[in-house]
Amino acid sequence: MRVVVVGAGIAGLATAWYLQQAGVDAVVLEASNRAGGKVRTRELDGVALDVGPDTFLGRTPWAVDLCRELGLDDDLVAPATTQAWLWSRGQLRPLPDGLALGVPLNPLALARSGVVSPEGVARAALDVVLPQIKPRADPSVSDVIGDRLGREVLDRLVDPLIGGINAGRSDRLSLAAVAPDLFAAFRRHRSLILGLRGERRKAPPSDVPLFLGLRGGMERLTSTLAAKVDVSLSTGVDGVERTDAGRLVVNVHDGAPIETDAVVLAVPASAAAAMVRGASAKAAAELAQTRFASVAVATLAYRPDDMVHPLNGSGFLVPRVDGRLLTACTWFSSKWPDVRPGGLTLLRCSAGRDGDERIADLDDGDLIARLHAEAADALGLQAAPVEAIVARWPNAFPQYDVGHLGRVDAAERALARELPGTTLVGASYRGVGIASCVRQAKEMARRITGTLRT
Ligand SMILES: Cc1cc2nc3c(=O)[nH]c(=O)nc-3n(C[C@H](O)[C@H](O)[C@H](O)COP(=O)(O)OP(=O)(O)OC[C@H]3O[C@@H](n4cnc5c(N)ncnc54)[C@H](O)[C@@H]3O)c2cc1C
Repeated sequence: MRVVVVGAGIAGLATAWYLQQAGVDAVVLEASNRAGGKVRTRELDGVALDVGPDTFLGRTPWAVDLCRELGLDDDLVAPATTQAWLWSRGQLRPLPDGLALGVPLNPLALARSGVVSPEGVARAALDVVLPQIKPRADPSVSDVIGDRLGREVLDRLVDPLIGGINAGRSDRLSLAAVAPDLFAAFRRHRSLILGLRGERRKAPPSDVPLFLGLRGGMERLTSTLAAKVDVSLSTGVDGVERTDAGRLVVNVHDGAPIETDAVVLAVPASAAAAMVRGASAKAAAELAQTRFASVAVATLAYRPDDMVHPLNGSGFLVPRVDGRLLTACTWFSSKWPDVRPGGLTLLRCSAGRDGDERIADLDDGDLIARLHAEAADALGLQAAPVEAIVARWPNAFPQYDVGHLGRVDAAERALARELPGTTLVGASYRGVGIASCVRQAKEMARRITGTLRT
């Protein structure tokens, strides 16, 4: 019994790992010449530097358990600081206390932060007295947050925080898909602020860090996995078909077709659509509707003496409404004090989000210059960076637009009908973060091993 997993990002590698743990023979086929997908660690002056994800959720078990299983638990490390800032209304302001994915549970703290105007605070506080809004089946983030808390909180807090996770825009993202806890609270309670406060009181306090990284870089997770499972690099998959005898055939670019019992597509929805088009036009049509946003990450290194700002936090987010190229600036050497190549201080500047494609027109030099200029403006910096690394991530962030979960369900149903044994895991489907990808992988391995046993 053999399972073919297509794609050696974290989702595909973790799927193969859990299948292998259950005694199932699994091979991972990867189009590129490296494993890891979006998980990527580079080096600057011999120091490991994440240019893709640098943390995962620490309070859900999935990624943490996987690290333990792989013997990486001693290298799990929490960021040295989690105080985030917002570059809002002309200056850097600390994110107010008591935020639930950008929803301010404490209007006084919101007022003190200055992140929104006094009118914006008053409008947000109205949530406490407004009547319940009749929930629509699948509202956008802005439908719900705008109605309950007003435009300013939406634009200056919720859009940067929720949108920042997937480079998305709140008027298109499905609240149910990107923030299921907020969506559940919205449906359950009249007031979002009161409802979320009540739920927070019920949750037991936790001293587990909200986010965790890996000493030596996040790619240690995927490279450790890749060393433990069977991965075939430079093996692109063109399509999956079903034989008359009901077996699955994976058509490999420049290679012999592989017959198998089950196929897990751990690739972006656009790639999965192309692979199943011949066998299931319906699944392909649903998958092809997922849009993607491109981002670029420029890590800029400065002499510590040139850094006039204390960098007392993990960095800042930039609301879309201010029209800047910079979307976020991580104070990397404050967040990860060990990451100081050559003693330099690092700022990790991000650009690009859904609806803002300006990075495509900038070469690396221009991108560095523009991002440095904007970061310098926020931080009062006079000196230029002495080194820079640019990582571009075209079409990296799947957009969970309104209707997303319904489309994934529909694609899975069509596959079950027309290409049975073919399934989907990964960031394009049921959660973009590393922890969600590992959860999907573990659940899929369980489903497959359950099917094989019956
Ligand atoms: C800059 C950046 C920062 C991020 N920060 C965080 C963070 O801090 N925390 C967090 O939790 N998440 C973060 N994310 C999100 C997270 O990294 C990704 O969502 C996740 O790694 C995606 O994993 P995946 O396995 O689903 O897909 P991918 O990593 O995209 O892997 C898919 C693999 O499939 C391969 N493939 C594609 N087509 C084919 C084909 N035809 N045949 C064979 N193989 C194919 C690809 O080459 C790729 O290796 C970040 C992402 C980016 C880009």
